[in-house]
Amino acid sequence: MKLSQPTEKRLPGRPKEASEAELLRYEALWVDTFRGLRDGNPEIETEVPAGSSMFIKRSGPGQEQLYIEGFGKPPRVIRQPKFSTTPDELRSWRSRVQKEQDQFEEAMLDPAPVRAKVAAIPSERRLWEALKRADNATRVRRIYSQSNIWLKPRLEFPGGGFIEHWPFRRILYRDAEAFCLAKLDPRYPGRDQRKSGDYRRVEYLARVMAGLTVRLAPSTAVEMLRKMKHTEQCICWRCLMQIAPRFPISLARYLAEGNWFR
Ligand SMILES: [Zn+2]
Repeated sequence: MKLSQPTEKRLPGRPKEASEAELLRYEALWVDTFRGLRDGNPEIETEVPAGSSMFIKRSGPGQEQLYIEGFGKPPRVIRQPKFSTTPDELRSWRSRVQKEQDQFEEAMLDPAPVRAKVAAIPSERRLWEALKRADNATRVRRIYSQSNIWLKPRLEFPGGGFIEHWPFRRILYRDAEAFCLAKLDPRYPGRDQRKSGDYRRVEYLARVMAGLTVRLAPSTAVEMLRKMKHTEQCICWRCLMQIAPRFPISLARYLAEGNWFR
């Protein structure tokens, strides 16, 4: 990723650097989505910070909810009691939320990691195969709607309620037609039969979807991501994983060997 150019050189409108960074970020999110759809996540044992890994406060109309997820433990959902309207009840709910939040933050700062199992997430391989075959928007939208895991934009709470955790996934539904068209492009490695071939398709389709997510034409996004320069100081997801373009190993090979963020 290029570092910022001096401000005076910027063209009017959206700064180029910002859209490049955004495109690159969505590339990773879409790789995660398609790779997960194809392979799922295995159960792994890893060193994690003691305590919880995710803390979500859901407010808005109705009752508030806390969603707290820890490695190797089932998620906890704490709901604001119904009809808690008196000042005392509200105060006691606020202090409960604060206590949970403090505990969570303390655990995040705790330097002593524990070994914990991270639960496996199944693949939806059938949907991945169908997505590759889909040649019209209706089919793509049907596949999208059939997904229970990897294409869903919402994280659902065990006892009802949800948060929109992966809103970008909706773009596959919205731009289903552009997705199909992008597979007709000669750059799509549709016939790559190598073991890593499917991961080249993951990469290409992730670039297409990253483009559509930031409202760039797929072919523009594919080219921008292909030609993007990563400096020695770059700390983007590719450089952190030590893969191409700055490092010799390609994303496809990296994925084919079973590596990814866990
Ligand atoms: Zn980089």
